[in-house]
Amino acid sequence: MYNQRNKPTYYERGSRRGRQGAPSVLFTCVVVFLCALAFAGLTSAFNAMPEGGPADPPGDKPGDNPGDNPGDKPTDPIVSPSKCVILDPGHGGIDGGASYPGAVEKVINMQIALKVKAYLEEAGFSVIMTREQDITLWPSERVAFAKANAEAELFVSIHCNATTDDVSAGIETWYNSSSNAGNTLLAQCVQDETVFTTGARDRGLKLSTGLPVLSGAPMPSCLIEVGFLSSKNERPLLLSEDYQNKIARGIANGIIAFFSK
Ligand SMILES: [Zn+2]
Repeated sequence: MYNQRNKPTYYERGSRRGRQGAPSVLFTCVVVFLCALAFAGLTSAFNAMPEGGPADPPGDKPGDNPGDNPGDKPTDPIVSPSKCVILDPGHGGIDGGASYPGAVEKVINMQIALKVKAYLEEAGFSVIMTREQDITLWPSERVAFAKANAEAELFVSIHCNATTDDVSAGIETWYNSSSNAGNTLLAQCVQDETVFTTGARDRGLKLSTGLPVLSGAPMPSCLIEVGFLSSKNERPLLLSEDYQNKIARGIANGIIAFFSK
């Protein structure tokens, strides 16, 4: 019993031989594994590289922004999703704003606001709106909405302009310099970017202390007049999908620029 118990079995013998040859076998395995890893790395790098060399990285030269190059990822958020913006489409319900045949301000304001909302959400913002339906909402109610949503970081009201002649045209942005430190910068960013995307006449910033939505909102705020419905040239533009997209892109870019400064 004793001898049998101490006689090495087949597997024990085998394992002892294995231990004796372990250093050389282990070394061979490591070398083979490292060679395989190196080959796999070279192969994947070669496959990933487009014809003509590495892809042009975004932002590597002036004017080169994400999305300019075919390889850029257009869906990368520009800001944290936690940034919340209030959009305020002017008028609504029984208050139509400026009205001309086939052109009612409250409708155009809403169409543009919804486009701005889509652009901002695409860029990673959270957007809330004072109204999403054709409802009557007085200025005091808009201010109350802003105060009830004080976690929002800015408030932008969207309107169309009108006057007694049919030639006045262009974009202007109203702000109250005393109610909030960020108002002037926000107004300037929104004005500049919207003039840029539309090519409209730049009527500049307009100082106001009388507009309730600008003095009552607890966050930076501005009110953009995106064009003149009274203008025989601008009215058809303000009704067109293409021009509304340009306006909306400009307002969204202005908001994004405000956060980057
Ligand atoms: Zn208006």
